[in-house]
Amino acid sequence: MTTSHWLRPHAFKTPDIIADIVIVGGGYVGLSTAYWISESRPDLKIVILDRSHLGAGASGRNAGFLTMGSATFYKKLNKEWGKERALSLLNFGKESLSLVHQHILQSSPEIKFEKSSSLTLFQTPENRTAWDDPSFNPSDFNFIWKNEVELSPGLRGKFHGAFENGPEYKINPIQLLNSLKAKLEARKIQIIENLAAFEITADGVSTEYNTIKCKQVVLAINGYFPQFHPAFKELIKPCRAQMMAVELEEDIDSNFLHYDSPEKVYWRKSFDKILLIGGKRTLDEAGEVGDFEKISAKIQAGLESYLKDLLKLNYKVIHRWSGTMGFTGHELPIITKAEAPMDTYVIGGFSGHGMGFGFRSAKEVADLVLGTIQKSFFDNFKAIKIKL
Ligand SMILES: Cc1cc2nc3c(=O)[nH]c(=O)nc-3n(C[C@H](O)[C@H](O)[C@H](O)COP(=O)(O)OP(=O)(O)OC[C@H]3O[C@@H](n4cnc5c(N)ncnc54)[C@H](O)[C@@H]3O)c2cc1C
Repeated sequence: MTTSHWLRPHAFKTPDIIADIVIVGGGYVGLSTAYWISESRPDLKIVILDRSHLGAGASGRNAGFLTMGSATFYKKLNKEWGKERALSLLNFGKESLSLVHQHILQSSPEIKFEKSSSLTLFQTPENRTAWDDPSFNPSDFNFIWKNEVELSPGLRGKFHGAFENGPEYKINPIQLLNSLKAKLEARKIQIIENLAAFEITADGVSTEYNTIKCKQVVLAINGYFPQFHPAFKELIKPCRAQMMAVELEEDIDSNFLHYDSPEKVYWRKSFDKILLIGGKRTLDEAGEVGDFEKISAKIQAGLESYLKDLLKLNYKVIHRWSGTMGFTGHELPIITKAEAPMDTYVIGGFSGHGMGFGFRSAKEVADLVLGTIQKSFFDNFKAIKIKL
């Protein structure tokens, strides 16, 4: 993204900047990376660069599920990677949530968050039977089965049962980002918005107006990686995810974070009588590929039908929006050192789980940058080589 001479703000000055580390991408993961690096090395000069504004990407557009993911996600991991590795990811997610609580939530009274747990829902006994896999035992993962009678009254008659997992959190993602931003500013970390990184050179990061000289670079641009460099085209696929916020006429009595995997839908209540729902990508799989943030009638109608026909709710739509997720082939993030003209690290491709895994993952990339670890936790699943 560039700005023409005619639109360029005349007051916009970009003096040469010299930093130790430049982090490209001002989403939850970029900010969290700066947090962890500065936690260990407050002496380093860190600059965060965003081509738009903090939270412009998925981090400011998500459903605010701070979870380890659904039971269906772990069933898939168990099948592809075996029980031990699937369990190791669950523990990584647990640690991530506990670190967020310890480092951000409990010291940020301005953040509205709620301790909760997630339900992986099944509409019918047949859904559950079709889902079952003899090689996957949900109780090994501490997923607790709830029969219909054990579900909240608002879910009875609509769902046959659910697996519960927790403790997890519901958050307002913008408040989470703002709180991180305040902590970083207190540590004198420089945040530059409206400035895109174009290239990594032997000197640093080149932008439209200058080169930010540095010794190390972290790229944290999730779904936008393929725009930055063709090396990412086969590694991270940008996919649109659409959401809707509705005001309910009568409350639905279920305060969980809900996953309905066969429907590819996730939903939760926000404040009183506001319900957030997203998903239904399967209605237009091909149309939802790409990083153009728009809403479409087909997906939005699918979300509305879920609310009306399944949840039997009366509501008023108050907002519709979309965001870009970065999907990897194995649906786990890539955290690695890249071969590049400068010491460069990549963190991205969270495949819809960045709010849950992001904080602990950012610690992983920070440890790589600082040389306290040599390979990332995610290399245990798939080690990926990137040449820029
Ligand atoms: C609708 C929706 C709902 C979701 N719900 C959930 C959920 O409930 N729970 C969950 O765990 N996850 C959820 N996700 C996924 C989650 O939001 C992401 O995994 C997470 O936000 C990724 O954070 P990030 O910092 O890596 O990327 P982003 O937030 O996308 O940040 C990347 C940033 O990089 C900037 N950028 C891009 N290119 C450049 C460049 N060249 N130079 C400078 N800056 C650049 C962008 O402006 C952007 O701000 C959802 C995603 C969407 C879209």
